[in-house]
Amino acid sequence: MSSRFINVGERTNVTGSARFRKLIQADDYTEALNVARQQIENGAQIIDINMDDGLIESEQAMVTFLNLIAAEPDIARVPLMIDSSKWSVLEAGLKCVQGKSIVNSLSLKEGEAPFLEQARIARRLGAAVVVMGFDEGGQAETARHKVDIARRAHDLLVSKAGFAPDDIIFDPNIFAVATGIEAHDDYGVAFIEATREIRRLMPRCHVSGGVSNLSFSFRGNEVVRRAMHSVFLYHAIRAGMTMAIVNAGQIDILDALDPVLREAVEDVILNRNPAATEKLLTLAQGYHGQSAANATGKQKDEGRDRPVEDRLNHALVNGIDTHIVADTEEARLQVDRPLEIIEGPLMDGMNKVGDLFGSGQMFLPQVVKSARVMKAAVRHLEPFMEAEKKSGPAAKRGTIVMATVQGDVHDIGKNIVGIVLQCNNYEVVDLGVMVPAARILEVAREVDADMIGLSGLITPSLDRMVEVAREMTRQGFDIPLLIGGATTSKKHTALKIAPEYAHGVVHIDDASRAVGVVSTLLSEERRDAYLESVASEQEVVRNGHEKRPDTPRGMPLQAARDNAPKLDHGVVRPKFTGTKAFDHYDIGEIARFIDWTPFFHAWGLRGAYPRILGDADKGEAATALFENARSMLAEGIDQGWFRARAVIGIWPAASRGDDVIVKPLLETGEAQETRLHFLRQQGRKSGDRPNQCLSDYIVPEEIGVEDWIGGFAVAIDGGVHERAARFEASGDDYSAIMIKALADRLAEAFAECLHQRVRREFWAYAPDEELDNDALIAEAYRGIRPAPGYPACPDHTEKATLFDLLDAEKACGAKLTESFAIWPASAVAGYYFAHPKARYFGLGHIDRDQVVDYAARKGWSIGVAEKWLRPCLSYDPVEDSKAPDLAA
Ligand code: SAH
Repeated sequence: MSSRFINVGERTNVTGSARFRKLIQADDYTEALNVARQQIENGAQIIDINMDDGLIESEQAMVTFLNLIAAEPDIARVPLMIDSSKWSVLEAGLKCVQGKSIVNSLSLKEGEAPFLEQARIARRLGAAVVVMGFDEGGQAETARHKVDIARRAHDLLVSKAGFAPDDIIFDPNIFAVATGIEAHDDYGVAFIEATREIRRLMPRCHVSGGVSNLSFSFRGNEVVRRAMHSVFLYHAIRAGMTMAIVNAGQIDILDALDPVLREAVEDVILNRNPAATEKLLTLAQGYHGQSAANATGKQKDEGRDRPVEDRLNHALVNGIDTHIVADTEEARLQVDRPLEIIEGPLMDGMNKVGDLFGSGQMFLPQVVKSARVMKAAVRHLEPFMEAEKKSGPAAKRGTIVMATVQGDVHDIGKNIVGIVLQCNNYEVVDLGVMVPAARILEVAREVDADMIGLSGLITPSLDRMVEVAREMTRQGFDIPLLIGGATTSKKHTALKIAPEYAHGVVHIDDASRAVGVVSTLLSEERRDAYLESVASEQEVVRNGHEKRPDTPRGMPLQAARDNAPKLDHGVVRPKFTGTKAFDHYDIGEIARFIDWTPFFHAWGLRGAYPRILGDADKGEAATALFENARSMLAEGIDQGWFRARAVIGIWPAASRGDDVIVKPLLETGEAQETRLHFLRQQGRKSGDRPNQCLSDYIVPEEIGVEDWIGGFAVAIDGGVHERAARFEASGDDYSAIMIKALADRLAEAFAECLHQRVRREFWAYAPDEELDNDALIAEAYRGIRPAPGYPACPDHTEKATLFDLLDAEKACGAKLTESFAIWPASAVAGYYFAHPKARYFGLGHIDRDQVVDYAARKGWSIGVAEKWLRPCLSYDPVEDSKAPDLAA
């Protein structure tokens, strides 16, 4: 083989290049061919082509593109690397290529048989192969493991598939370094050492790798990324690397690098010193945004000749951080004290953002991006302010302590509100999730907070909020309390929280209202009048409520049961029973099932996808957000940021009244009974409308026909929370919220994806179902997957039974908090009902007779039942002086 090093062009890859992806999505193959051509002009000797994207028909796009290339002699003269994680795409691609081609990639992930089968096909079609450093045990991270896989693959390919060693290219995995996770620090060294050993043992084979992965922690910082790639290649090539997938136009000459940067980068890549990452991060800030030389965006240089104040203003209002550090520095040199920059042009810019937001011309995602720019500027100035012994940035307008209450894990909405407040120059002390009342109040005292904001998503959190209010009274607080989050309401705040605390409890129903409320509460003139008006409104709500008769509102439980729907049961025997776990499920596959509409909701943009992208007001903000989401998703998939775990179960079952008896088989062969508890609608129904209960969808045991029920739990993790924390720590709240919002979407999408497999494959009661994603989102299929805590089955505690049946903690790494929220937050659990008539419904209010009955079935005291069912009670329970034991 030639000793010459080979560059593989990487820009014709939809997962790595947003521009190329857009061209393919827009069917602009002429321009897409130009991307290929440019790379070759820039020195690429092979080009890598990848069409793996949920929204692209990958196989067809690959074939179309390759056929077009065949007609372009200046492109077709280089070998093509056909890159896909799907074998069908690889095979379709191979068949179109005339010259030498390379399959990217094969691996031993699924074992030797499929590996050999695919290798033989590649061999027959004359292709070389890239073998990834994966085996049945997962990705190889250490040098030892990488070398072992290479040897094993080499022996199989040469002795069993007839490969010449020259046609084998090993890719021993280049992973990101300097991620802040200590275990990643050695990834650069592991690759280099593995390369050395592989070339020693198998000198005729190639070693390749995708270099841009290495520097993912420095996204947006072109200077540092280029330096890292150049230094890495220098060492890896000396160790024997023969090829690399790189942007051929973007490699620096080592000697041209700033020596300080080069040394810091070398420390990181060669893992020469434990403080290397920190040092490079610090140094990197000085280079942040200096990417103009290679940037292709047009807006970046717009108005660069304007005065620096204008540029700062423009950057803030448009959320562009490309030049922010350089411009802030330029501005700093013009003033006596750095504080003047913050109080002057930066605050001016943020005020403008506040005004635009207040007047509906800017939307939450844009505000969060502006905040990121602001933080980068302040971060740059901070060291200079410390040097002057200034006590920090401009005087804040007020301090707000925020937290998601104990037992709850959801924080996207709270985080967005926090950032919007920060943008308006309020100091926000965010205590995170699952925060006990005592801690919230302790910190509020410590920082002399002007108010406290509580957030929660699940119904048990409502009780936690009441407890915080009560505790504020006990401890003699007199600052206002703000309440927000999905299950909170004006009514609940008025009825349950406000009576516990006399100094103002304000429900905020929409993140965009937070700034207005906070500024009113901090204004001496307006505050008292506002709190009085809130209090009197709450009084009205309470009076309206008390006027209700104290008699049962629905029908007696027995009458409701007598009015249960009369259903026929045509049971389909499941193909599969028992439980089945999934790990490292293909995220690209899951992503195809994403319902994007709730994603926009999470960011405060209401409207249905995809229409929202073209909306006259929100369209621009929505489109930018969607672009950012898709590129982070692609990067996350590429980098393994998400780990999808799940477990499904299908078990024999029969209904017993309103409960369902589940009979999973034990290993001993005997069936163990587990009871799922459901509640029945008790409202008075008109006409022949029935009073529903989920158990109606399962055959009653007295009929004696065997029926089945299913369950599932899915979780998306893999360090999502840690990565978000890291984004936050670097001032990038936008990305922190984005990754959580994406993980939430993936969890729901995963539930959708597995539900489909259950219908088609495992239970197989709809083996021929063919629905597109719109139809899935519209739930146009047979069967439902209700989730405990949702309207048809609002008792969150039932998740514990479901988790036990599924052994979900073990299978998904998910845990239930004391309020039965699932941690990690991006998780879903529910039941499968296959009955053709099964529909989601809302329980509505239940009367005391059902609570008494349910308590007996659950083995609870009535007080405990009232606690957990509080949001559905039709009556006010008599308050126990001592709070019932929630853990019972
Ligand atoms: N496509 C949406 C689906 C989530 S909401 C998304 O990606 O966000 C729908 C899920 O919530 C259902 O699959 C079910 O698990 C739960 N759900 C909705 N309504 C329900 C109800 N009335 N009772 C019980 N669970 C319900």
